[in-house]
Amino acid sequence: MYPIIAKLLARFNQQLDTRAILIGQDILSEGVEAMRENLPRGPWLVAVDDNTWEAAGAEFTALLDTAGQPWTRYHVEDESDGSSPICSDDRIEAFKNALTTTGAVAGVAVGSGTINDIVKLASCHLDLPMACVATAPSMNGYTSGISAVLSDGVKTTIPCTAPRVVVADSDIMAEAPYRMICSGLGDLMSKPVSNADWQLSAWLNDTYHSSQAMEIIEAGAEMLVGVAPRLPERDRDAVAGLTASLMLSGLAMSVAGSSSPASGGEHLISHYIDMTAIAFDKPHDFHGCQVGVGTVTTAFIYERLRALNPDQIDIDARVDALLPWEEYEELLRQRFGPLFDAVVKHARPAYPTPDEMRQRLGRLCDQWERLDTEVGQTLRTAQSLEDELASAECPLRFSDLGVEPDRARRSIVHSKDIRNRYTILHLAWELGMLEPWADEALEILAGP
Ligand SMILES: [Zn+2]
Repeated sequence: MYPIIAKLLARFNQQLDTRAILIGQDILSEGVEAMRENLPRGPWLVAVDDNTWEAAGAEFTALLDTAGQPWTRYHVEDESDGSSPICSDDRIEAFKNALTTTGAVAGVAVGSGTINDIVKLASCHLDLPMACVATAPSMNGYTSGISAVLSDGVKTTIPCTAPRVVVADSDIMAEAPYRMICSGLGDLMSKPVSNADWQLSAWLNDTYHSSQAMEIIEAGAEMLVGVAPRLPERDRDAVAGLTASLMLSGLAMSVAGSSSPASGGEHLISHYIDMTAIAFDKPHDFHGCQVGVGTVTTAFIYERLRALNPDQIDIDARVDALLPWEEYEELLRQRFGPLFDAVVKHARPAYPTPDEMRQRLGRLCDQWERLDTEVGQTLRTAQSLEDELASAECPLRFSDLGVEPDRARRSIVHSKDIRNRYTILHLAWELGMLEPWADEALEILAGP
């Protein structure tokens, strides 16, 4: 184990389910040993798809056989239209049934986001432990105590138990499709703005903020220094650094008990693209590729916010402009169509009362310097984030994601209603600036 990871696992032992995170070359057999130490010895149900079977599943299960560990293969099928599987309620139910019928005592995911999320949540529902063989450094969810699920058409995160053991062979990770490597980097590049959103909400709404989680996030950020430009040549050390940083980001979410440390407005933009892709049969990209473009967008919006003069914010006018909920609800119905019923559940509790809004904007204007001293501490400029993504040849524009300008605009100005968590998008909207700032951002970020 990386010494820093071993140290953090020991230090946060009480808060974490994860006992071992192994990253390196030829690490699968060590991974089997760690799983045998940390999972019950009865039969394990091993979830794979065709790609992950070839990348790691065949080798991993041969090692299980050698170790005398009983296991059953569970095949995660593509969606009926041939697209990649989605972690939906039905998928979770199906894996739960398979765990029960095979008498498995643990689930093992061989894969990345979707397979890991299905196995995590299904195992958790049955109170069974699980482990994961990672196959791509594509997202930070491996070690997190939450799963991203498409429930009633809305992308939500649901708390669950994290893996006992995660194994990531850097040769396997480095040979993942390059777009998945871009996705992992994009997911981590959100840190400056997702942390800013987390601080912003703690300041303006007195929501919870964890300095312990921040410590882990910072350790993860250090592992990412200098990694991006070495990714296109699939440098093994760089891929291992990216992987370790992703694992630490997931641990930070586990310690915080929510995705807040690593998921702000930039993630809402990505989730909006996913939701509308599925509901309206539109293109989408890997989670972190979308997050990367969302990150540059919200970093740009932070720049516009910090350039405001607080004396010119007319709080009375802003509160007067707040629509009564019933009228706003009607707007949401028009905007979201078939997704309305699912969205409104999240939008309703997040919608401010006039008093809440007055208090929040009052605090913002009275304590404006905290934008620099607290929220701004982790922020970076949109340009520096874009440069780092560009050095790894990651997608930089909405057009690179297959998202046309109108949908890109909607992903910025409508996505705040899909989750009840305050972000820069919410604040920009309360200031009446979300639409003009989105338009300014899109002059560049929509793409050619
Ligand atoms: Zn993410």
